Amino acid sequence: MKAQSSALPAANAAAAETKPPALLASLPAVDRLLGEAALQQAIAVHGRSQVVQALRATLAAARSAILAGSGVAAGDTLIADTLAALEIAARPNLRRVFNLTGTVLHTNLGRATLPEEAIAAMVDAARHPCALEYDLASGGRGDRDDLVNELLCELTGAEAATVVNNNAAAVFLLLNTLAQRKEVIVSRGELVEIGGAFRVPDIMKRAGAKLVEVGCTNRTHARDFEEAIGPRTALLMKVHTSNYAVEGFTKAVPQAEIAAIAHARGLPFVEDLGSGTLTALEAWGLPHEPTPAEAIAAGADLVTFSGDKLLGGPQAGILVGRKALIARIKKNPLKRALRVGKITLAALEAVLRLYRDPERLPERLESLRLLSRSEAEIHAQAEHLRPALAAALAGWPVDVTVESMRSQIGSGSLPVDRLPSAGLVCRPQRKGGVLNRLEKALRELPVPVVGRIADNALWLDLRCLRPADDNEFAAQCGRLARPG
Ligand SMILES: *Cc1c(COP(=O)(O)O)cnc(C)c1O
Repeated sequence: MKAQSSALPAANAAAAETKPPALLASLPAVDRLLGEAALQQAIAVHGRSQVVQALRATLAAARSAILAGSGVAAGDTLIADTLAALEIAARPNLRRVFNLTGTVLHTNLGRATLPEEAIAAMVDAARHPCALEYDLASGGRGDRDDLVNELLCELTGAEAATVVNNNAAAVFLLLNTLAQRKEVIVSRGELVEIGGAFRVPDIMKRAGAKLVEVGCTNRTHARDFEEAIGPRTALLMKVHTSNYAVEGFTKAVPQAEIAAIAHARGLPFVEDLGSGTLTALEAWGLPHEPTPAEAIAAGADLVTFSGDKLLGGPQAGILVGRKALIARIKKNPLKRALRVGKITLAALEAVLRLYRDPERLPERLESLRLLSRSEAEIHAQAEHLRPALAAALAGWPVDVTVESMRSQIGSGSLPVDRLPSAGLVCRPQRKGGVLNRLEKALRELPVPVVGRIADNALWLDLRCLRPADDNEFAAQCGRLARPG
């Protein structure tokens, strides 16, 4: 770029002594700068208006700098600043990141990453018209839920299914449909808050249902439910305590027992499973997580769960259960407000199809593949990447080591279980807040790296770094800023 802009004025000692008005006049004009090859190339990439706007902003900053007493910036610097501003403005707001937090289904980092089958299905649905609500057999109007209804019934043993925007919406719609101006009985130990924004009592209130808490925080008995049932009771509900565990002197009433109590009074029993995987996770060395099929088999009349937690699909809320209840839910006008689009349904269908071939699931379902990676494999990956990170951090007062660590599943799934994992650990050589600066520098990389500071070290858990991305990760380490 230097060679291209040699005709532009350079900052020099003579200019620095000139009075501000003269310096202001010495700034090159917009049109003249736009003629430079580098900015002509930028116009081809970003468009003329963007480049003019960025250039004006750079010149305005240069004018303020002159008035503040600094010298006049060189033409090269003005162009470089403009190009840098254009690069930043062109970056998507939704940035891809490396999730090295050790939390696999990280809500703030977008939860499940999707399998290739789902990605291909989304691209297809986005690119072409598709039979979203169109029955190809009859040529008449169709129902978008039919795209996944049979698959969901097959995988859960339910009679019918419907899909909404997320599980919070599923719970809300269920309560609003079945329990408006009525009472819902829930164990006091299950009044969970998920990530601050979803609290069972608040959702219940907004849905127009009255919460009736029974039992104590640690213990709830069958008779607590029986005694709470009255003429205004709409349903009995169980909420999976996704993000915490009550341990010690505890008692929860088994699902089948609550179901029996509800059914004896002609009431539905519904269960909010939260995560809800469709397969037995223990087959892959993971802890057991309740499945919708188990809940249905135990007598639940409706079950709700997320699409993007352990299921490993797109953000969605899935309701399965009795046909008559699902039909009522689908007739609620709010269903229209909470429904999902074709891209989501395309991804969900593709993911559900993978579950029909459970033996190959961990190879094909990306989230399960990440969750079932062995510590040995991740350890080897960390050994492989350590030299690149250590070299990039040569100027930083930290030691980079490969260590064992524990990942968590995240999204409130299996809250107390940890997965043996491995990764890179940066420990400060002396006091002085280097970890916060390093954490920030990692976040400023082209693909931001999100790690975790704990116990006076920065932890980069490599469970979620796909081996296919190793080279990209190592290469961008070289772009780490110098310690500030
Ligand atoms: C996660 C969760 C929700 C909310 O689900 P979203 O899909 O995030 O809306 C509701 N209930 C339980 C028990 C959960 O674990």
